[in-house]
Amino acid sequence: ISSSLQHISMQNIKVVVRVRPITHNEEEQNVKNIVKCLTHKEILMKEKKYSFDRVFKPTASQIELYINVVAPLIKDVISGYNCTVFAYGQTGTGKTYTMTGDKCSIIKNWKEDEDAGIIPRAAHHLFHELDRMKINQYTIKVSYIELYNEEIRDLLSNDENALQLYNDSKGLKINGLNEVTCFNSADVCRELQRGILKRQVAPTLMNHQSSRSHTVFTISLSTTESNLAGEDILKYGKINLVDLAGSENIAKAGCKDLRAQELANINKSLLTLGRVIQSLADKNQKHIPYRDSKLTRILQDSLGGNTKTVIIATVSPAHTSHEETANTLEYAMRAR
Ligand code: ADP
Ligand code: MG
Repeated sequence: ISSSLQHISMQNIKVVVRVRPITHNEEEQNVKNIVKCLTHKEILMKEKKYSFDRVFKPTASQIELYINVVAPLIKDVISGYNCTVFAYGQTGTGKTYTMTGDKCSIIKNWKEDEDAGIIPRAAHHLFHELDRMKINQYTIKVSYIELYNEEIRDLLSNDENALQLYNDSKGLKINGLNEVTCFNSADVCRELQRGILKRQVAPTLMNHQSSRSHTVFTISLSTTESNLAGEDILKYGKINLVDLAGSENIAKAGCKDLRAQELANINKSLLTLGRVIQSLADKNQKHIPYRDSKLTRILQDSLGGNTKTVIIATVSPAHTSHEETANTLEYAMRAR
């Protein structure tokens, strides 16, 4: 059983790469572009070829990425599957741009804003699809947490205290987590906006620290539909949209000085996630180390087994980021 489960999980992990454009600043500093998108599956950097399920060029739009990578998951959520989308990459390569989009566009009519990211688009798409499928009995809830130094904070609550994990009969829960019921996509965007603002003003999270924290925005759905025999069929699915800590922290964690040790501790979740994904992708591996970090514990019911996972690895095309880009591409290739 365990090997067949892993066969499913293997097929259910997709890895795509998105290359961000060269910035104006970089252009002025004569930064060289060293990343070439060969095909829609291959990247070339310094004579080395890397291949993925899909490669998005710097000119790829938010909607192109959404339609190809996230839209197919919405039907799965409605069918009762758990899905997870990760943005993984060096700080400054577009993880937040990809996941959230430009902050100000979230509330102000994001539908007309081409910069809007995955979260508002997924929320809109989910409500739209339920409507199209004529599913009337449903509840949509969202939660938004931040993980920093293995502590969980609720971005949708005024409470500053760290939340604890506990096991109840249905599995792992986050004690006291605020799960907000939403009736339309505007409600979802409002909660997202609220969480982003809370994250910015938090005294414990200065700028440099925010590159070391992970955020998880979860949209969960429960539906009730009648089958032909007139019985109620209940389904429960969710999608986790994860903006990971900057991957540069992993590379630094390899060093031996004290500060690096500190970083290793801070990014236990990032390191463990890599191991979990690698073990899921390796069909000979029986032990999946979910329990080794908070992030993988929280996402355990959405990683492996009957779930779908997409990793969006974001990279910079600049020669100045060569080493980090190589690290990200290697990490992402291993996950396939
Ligand atoms: P990260 O979250 O990985 O640290 P950001 O999402 O904050 O990176 O992106 C850094 C900057 O680059 C932002 O100003 C963002 O708007 C811009 N950016 C990132 N990716 C793209 C893209 N694909 N197209 C246009 N601008 C981008
Ligand atoms: Mg970011």
